[in-house]
Amino acid sequence: METPTFSIVVPVYNEEGCLDELYRRIVAVMESTGEPWELVLVDDGSRDRSTEIIKRLAEQDRRVRPVIFARNFGHQIAVTAGLDYSRGQAVVIIDADLQDPPEVILDLIAKWREGYEVVYAVRTEREGETWFKKFTAAAFYRLIYRITDVKIPVDTGDFRLMDRKVVDVLSRMREHHRFLRGMSAWVGFRQIGVPYKRAPRYAGETKYPLRKMLRLALNAITSFSYFPLQLATYLGFLAAGLAIVAIPVVIILRALQPQAFFGQASTLIAVLFLGGVQLISLGILGEYVGRIYDEVKGRPLYVVREVPSDDQTIEKKS
Ligand code: UDP
Ligand code: MG
Repeated sequence: METPTFSIVVPVYNEEGCLDELYRRIVAVMESTGEPWELVLVDDGSRDRSTEIIKRLAEQDRRVRPVIFARNFGHQIAVTAGLDYSRGQAVVIIDADLQDPPEVILDLIAKWREGYEVVYAVRTEREGETWFKKFTAAAFYRLIYRITDVKIPVDTGDFRLMDRKVVDVLSRMREHHRFLRGMSAWVGFRQIGVPYKRAPRYAGETKYPLRKMLRLALNAITSFSYFPLQLATYLGFLAAGLAIVAIPVVIILRALQPQAFFGQASTLIAVLFLGGVQLISLGILGEYVGRIYDEVKGRPLYVVREVPSDDQTIEKKS
C-alpha cells in the first residue's frame, strides 16, 4: 500500500453520535486534495458504541486505521498514539466532535505547501460553549503564555497540522504528563496560525469536565515552567522582608505607647498565614516530585488492545 501524504489523527472517547458524520466530512475534504490519505482513529477506551463503529469504518474503508486502547488514557495520550501510528508526510490532529470543522484542513494544507512545518488553527470565535468554558479557556491560555518559557500561541487547541519532521521529534518525547501544543511549540521550526470559527459540538457532550481541564492546565504549567516553585522563594523573601521592616517599627511603637500591638490576634494571623504559605509550597513541591516519580517508573504511555492490521512497525510503540 502506498504511504499516504496526509494522516488525520482523531482521539475518540464515547463519540458514537459523531463518528459517521466525521468520517463523511473527512472523506469529502480529503478527496478534494487528490492525494492519498489515511484516517487514524484512536479509541481511548470508549464505553459506548464508538469501538464498534470504528471497526466497521475500518472494514469498509482501508484508509481508516483503528488504534484501540485497553482503557481510557486521556485525550493527550490518545493523540500521541495517533501520531505514533500515523505515516503521512503531514499529520493533522482534529477532534471527533466536529467542533474543529474538517474543511479548515484545506487551509492548513495550503500553509504546509508554502513551507510551514507547524500550522495551528486559532479560534477566533467559539460557538455553543458556556461563558464559563470560554472565560476559563481564555484565562488559561493567557496565564500559560505569561509564565511559560516556550511561547505557546493563545486561543489554540490541538487542531493543527504538523510536518513529518515535527511528528518524529514529538514521537521521541515520551514524557508522561503531556501538553502537546506546548511540546509542538517547543520543537521550533517554521510555525504559523490560521484563524477559524469553532463550531458547536455535533452530538453528545463534552468529555472535558472541570477536573480534567484543571489537570491539563497543571500539566501545561509544570511541564513548561518552574514559576510555581519560584513562587515559594518570592513569598519567602516577601515575608522575611516584611518581618525585617516590622521588627523595629513594633519595638519603637511599643516603647512610645505600651498598649500598641497588644493581644494574640495579630500573632495568630501571622502564624496562620505563614503556615498556609508553607503548606501551599509543600503542595507545589509535591506536584513536581509526583511527576518526577511518574517519569522514573518508566511505564508505557498507553496500552493498546488492537493496532491497525497493516501496522508495519517493528519497534514496539507505547
Ligand atoms: N477525548 C479523548 N479522551 C478523553 C477525553 C476526550 O480521546 O479522555 C477526545 C474526545 O473524544 C474529542 C476530543 O478528545 O475528540 C476533545 O474532547 P471534547 O470535545 O470533549 O473537549 P472540549 O472540546 O469540550 O474541550
Ligand atoms: Mg469538543
